[in-house]
Parts: sequence; C-alpha cells; structure tokens
Amino acid sequence: MKVRTRFAPSPTGFLHIGGARTALFSWAYARRHGGSFILRIEDTDVARSTPEAVQAIIDGMQWLGLSHDEGPFYQMRRMDRYRQVIDEMLAAGTAYHCYTSKEELDALRAEQEARKEKPRYDGRWRPEAGKTLSPPPAGVAPVVRFRNPTGGVVAWQDQVKGRIEFANSELDDFIIARGDGTPTYNFCVVVDDRDMNITHVIRGDDHVNNTPRQINLLQALGAPVPRYAHLSMILGDDGQKLSKRHGAVSVMQYEEDGYLPEAVLNYLARLGWSHGDEEVFSMEQFVQWFDLDHITASAAQFNTEKLNWLNAHYLKLADAQRLAAEATRRLARQGVAVAGGPDVAQLAMLYRDRVGNLNELADALHPFYVAPRPKAEMAAQHLTEAAQKGLHALRERLAACDWQAAELGLAVKQTAAECGLKMPQLAIPLRVALLGMPQSPSIDAVLEVLGRERVLQRLAAVLSA
Ligand code: GLU
Repeated sequence: MKVRTRFAPSPTGFLHIGGARTALFSWAYARRHGGSFILRIEDTDVARSTPEAVQAIIDGMQWLGLSHDEGPFYQMRRMDRYRQVIDEMLAAGTAYHCYTSKEELDALRAEQEARKEKPRYDGRWRPEAGKTLSPPPAGVAPVVRFRNPTGGVVAWQDQVKGRIEFANSELDDFIIARGDGTPTYNFCVVVDDRDMNITHVIRGDDHVNNTPRQINLLQALGAPVPRYAHLSMILGDDGQKLSKRHGAVSVMQYEEDGYLPEAVLNYLARLGWSHGDEEVFSMEQFVQWFDLDHITASAAQFNTEKLNWLNAHYLKLADAQRLAAEATRRLARQGVAVAGGPDVAQLAMLYRDRVGNLNELADALHPFYVAPRPKAEMAAQHLTEAAQKGLHALRERLAACDWQAAELGLAVKQTAAECGLKMPQLAIPLRVALLGMPQSPSIDAVLEVLGRERVLQRLAAVLSA
C-alpha cells in the first residue's frame, strides 16, 4: 500500500502554528514511507474563504519547505464531482431527499428539548421497507440526507488516541447536500479522501466528532477507510488554548520576527512527538524517525523559550551567504542599503552567535552602515578626556596601519600602552566612537570590516564634537 497523506486547510486565515504542525506531520509521514503528500484547499465556506488566505497557506508551507506532491486541489472546483456522487448515492438508496422545512425542524427540536432529548433529525423522509412517505410538497427544494446506519457502533483505532467508538444511534441522518444543491463539509472531505486515495488522515482532534460520520459515508460508498491520527491541540506558554492572544500565531509572523524555518520545523516536530530525548535534529533525521506511535495523546504546550533557543542554535550553523541575504533584506526594510558598505557576509559571521534571531542580526549590523551618534550620556561616560587622547593617538596610528585584523589589534594595544590606558579603557571608547555602543565582537575584527576610511571618519567625528 502506497502511503498517501493530505493537508486540507480551510483558507479562512493564515497558516497558524497548529496547522503547520499538522502539515509537518502529514508531510513527514508521507516522506518517511516514500508516499505522496497532497495539498487540498477546503474552500467551500465561500463566505469565509479568501484568495489571500490560500496564498498565505501556500507561502507558509513554502517557507517551511513542506512541499506537496499533488495539488493544490480546490474543493470549489470539484462541485460537479460531488454532485455526481450525490446522484449515485440517491440512486443506490444510501441517500435520500428530505423535504422537512425549517419550521418543522424547529418544532421538532423544541419537542425534543422539552423531553430533554438530544436534538436530532427523526428520519421522517427516510425511506424504509413498508413505510409510506408523504408526497413531496410542491415548491420545496429538498436537502439530501445520508442514510446513516441505525444500529451498532462505528469505531476506529485512532493512531494517537487509541480506540474511539460512537453508537450509530448518536448520529442522525445528516445533510450531505443543501436545498440549493451545494454539498456539505463532511461529504466533500469524504469524496476527496476517497478520490485522492488517502491512506492516513492526520488532523487536529477538533475533527474527532466528524470521523464517525465520515467513516459511515466511506463505507456506504464502498470505499476503504483510511487510518486516522487525531493530534491533540497546542496550548500556549500559559497553558491556555493557543490563540491570537499568544502573539505570533501565523507561521509567517515567525519569518517576520527573524526565525529560521529549520528552527520552527525542529520546534514543531517536538510539539507532541518525541524520539527519546532528542531535541535538535534535521528534517532528514526527523523523516527517518517519524512515526505515529510516538505522538502524545495529551495536549502539547508551546514554549517560546525553547523555540528561541533552537533559533539561536540554527543561527550559529547558518552559512554566511544566507545570513547576509537575510540581513540585507531586513536592513532594506529599515531603509538601509548595504551596497558600498562593509562586507555584510563577514559581519554576519561575526554576529551570528551573538544574536537570537535575524532581526537582531540586522539591528546589530545597522551601525556599520549608518554612522551612529553616541548618545550624550554615553559619550560623557566613555569619551572622557583620557579616552579622547587615546583615540586621537590611535587615529594617527591607524591612518598608516596595515589594514589587517592582527595589525589593527596590535595598534590598539600599543596605543593603549603608550597612553597609559588599560586595554578596555581604550577599546570601549573606541567601540562607542565607531558603533555607538560599548560592546561588540573583537575590536580588531570590527576595525577590519569597517575599513580605514570609515574608521578614520568616525573617530574624527567624535574627536571634533
Ligand atoms: N478543512 C479542515 C480544517 O481546516 C480540515 C479537514 C480535515 O483535515 O479533514 O480544519
């Protein structure tokens, strides 16, 4: 059996963290088994679906590198197919027309509630042997209802939650097509899962209640029932259900906030799944390890600190060109052009293990491109008379110095000694003068990458101030 999984988002918003985890697990399962991963856009809720949301989902998946093998399939483009299956079911007697009006349904519900019963359709238009149905009322467009089995149970072995069972008496003959002929949600999912030969349905556990209906429908269609894995929800850092309150819920917000996709993926992989104590692993490794048996049935709790830690870890591994491109793009957003300035790749390597995310990287690089003005308070604290003297002497020495880190480091050291300053008493004012802040990576590397002209200019600026 070739494994076929799908991710089936409703395009009513961004790709959020929970959806991304569902997509990741479905993708990984298909990859693990050499199968196919299908993207299906469930856009039948016309009022809430938007093309922007479709794009946001596709962008999010692309950013994460969760490539699909088939699709995207759009349910709104499959309407003819759904109608065809409805006709087949009507012909086979597994579905029937129901003419009950809204008023009748309201009255039925009121009666049932008065008797403290669960409101459900009473099957008045359900054809049965020996039962005579009233003639269809004129001018009423009927809905189509599924002829749900009446007795027994519908059960499945959930890959995450274990055996789940529903009594058929709990499920009524639900509507599969509305009066205007449009098919309903559970019906479309079933036709698609069947037509797309889905073998494993991995989705959020908010769908557990749909599953018995979907299984009954599949069986009525004579279709094989896939395996189901219902993922528990994700809680926020505070233990509450993950929601917009928790800030970055859209995957692309993480991109904007400076996270690397591999950090987010590694983080998501461990959100409700484990492989021993492994915390840090590549996607290749994840795909080799991933299985449905080690998904936890309890809710997973989001942990921003851990995500940040992973992000810092992956930043340290990222290569110079990639970091340079990211920093360049993020500086450009701040209106800063790097062209003609210090080497951005060299700077990225200097800073990649000093920052937690790509925005911090861009911020750290900013003063290399835009000469900072040390704040008055900082200037007063660090650019003392003694320091200025040292900087003045250093400037003269640097004007003639061989522009290489080792030589530059030596020049700072010698100047400090000459002026009777300890190394930090010169190096810190130097940083303030060059970058507007008292800390930076090693001063010789900073001097080297800034270049002679910029260094001399910036020193002159603070010395003449
Ligand atoms: N469209 C559904 C959702 O976004 C998913 C349906 C499914 O996976 O079966 O929640």
